[in-house]
Amino acid sequence: MDIAQPAFESETSAGPREATTSDDQALRKRRLGMSFTSYMVTFAGVLLFTYQGMTPPAVALHFLLFSIVANGLMWLLIHYNFNLRFRDPSMTMAQLTICQWPALWVMFFLEAGQARAIFLLITIVPLLYGILALNRRQFFWVSSVFFLQYSLLHLALWQLRPAVLEPNLELIQSLVFLTVLAEAALIGGFISNLRGKLRLRNHELKNAMERIQELVNIDELTGIYNRRRIVQALSDESNRCRRTPGAFSLGIMDVDHFKYVNDTHGHQAGDEVLRKIAKAVAGELRAIDSFGRYGGEEFLLVLPQTSLAGARIKSQRLCKTIESLRFTGLPEDFRISISIGVAEALPDENTDATLARADHALYQAKESGRNQVICCDKQQTHQPPEEHLGPQL
Ligand code: GH3
Ligand code: MG
Ligand code: MG
Repeated sequence: MDIAQPAFESETSAGPREATTSDDQALRKRRLGMSFTSYMVTFAGVLLFTYQGMTPPAVALHFLLFSIVANGLMWLLIHYNFNLRFRDPSMTMAQLTICQWPALWVMFFLEAGQARAIFLLITIVPLLYGILALNRRQFFWVSSVFFLQYSLLHLALWQLRPAVLEPNLELIQSLVFLTVLAEAALIGGFISNLRGKLRLRNHELKNAMERIQELVNIDELTGIYNRRRIVQALSDESNRCRRTPGAFSLGIMDVDHFKYVNDTHGHQAGDEVLRKIAKAVAGELRAIDSFGRYGGEEFLLVLPQTSLAGARIKSQRLCKTIESLRFTGLPEDFRISISIGVAEALPDENTDATLARADHALYQAKESGRNQVICCDKQQTHQPPEEHLGPQL
């Protein structure tokens, strides 16, 4: 036999109001269903008392009606989202408080002190569930309410049905009940503490996982995608293109005469140049584009839903942007440029083949004087440079 158990959620102790979704509401309804089942299990016990002639049948009916009305009201509150106005949308404290009422009502009508003791045992069960949901303060509050309600029952019995009271036994029962409540509250506080620590650990773990993801995907020097991630983005885009129509293009970008930068101004200056180039290019791209460091001073650009003509225009703009960059700590007249080889992925072409065509175009761009864009046309021949974008280093 089991007393009605309220629908508990850990959010009760989570403090601030949390974002609530229809999924959460559905979960609350399911928990309310569990709570109602629990009421019904206890109701079976009440029926047993009735069958034994220990309580009038009307009391069992009251118990049933209370169970239906209380849970029905809670259900309506959830169904019409009224519960979202409360600090605890699961209404755990309210459920815990009222779930004792029908049990106390039954106890009021029980003649035998022993039978009342059995029911007293049942009233403690919701508290055990409370251990999993309430924080220390809430737990002490609920325990106090339990004891207060139990004391009110005695007051009512003393006033209205003094004959059924056995003072010595009632006193011992009250003391034991109080002790159990106090100990449950202590254990509840301890578990609530543990739950708090667990939440903190989960939070730290989540942060650590995010950091690991970052390290796995992000290039440390430039802060953009690393080779692993940009190749993944390329493969994802290639797969997407196979499923849905729409071209995509890619560009391999290489910094011109970068060795000269390192040799003349030092490796640190070289690093700074790479960082600034990455930042400038990333700043010019659309949200759906992907850009990453392919290795050394080479970058890969993945342009979804972009034809070769579009990729050419974009790449030429990038060349101009890089050409106009100024670098603090380097001579005033220091300029840098990039060359880009572009290819549009052909239907059913694998990414290695597209990359090879773009790489070949890049080679052509270098051969043709650098600081320019060469596009590999769809027949896998290489167009001559259209324009020379500026002076060389
Ligand atoms: P080109 O115009 O033909 O591309 O000439 P380049 O000098 O840029 O080409 P090369 O491949 O000869 O030189 C690439 C240089 O990039 C060599 C290497 O020292 C430098 N490099 C690669 N990775 C890094 C890096 O992380 N930081 C710095 N500072 N330099 C790097
Ligand atoms: Mg290179
Ligand atoms: Mg280079």
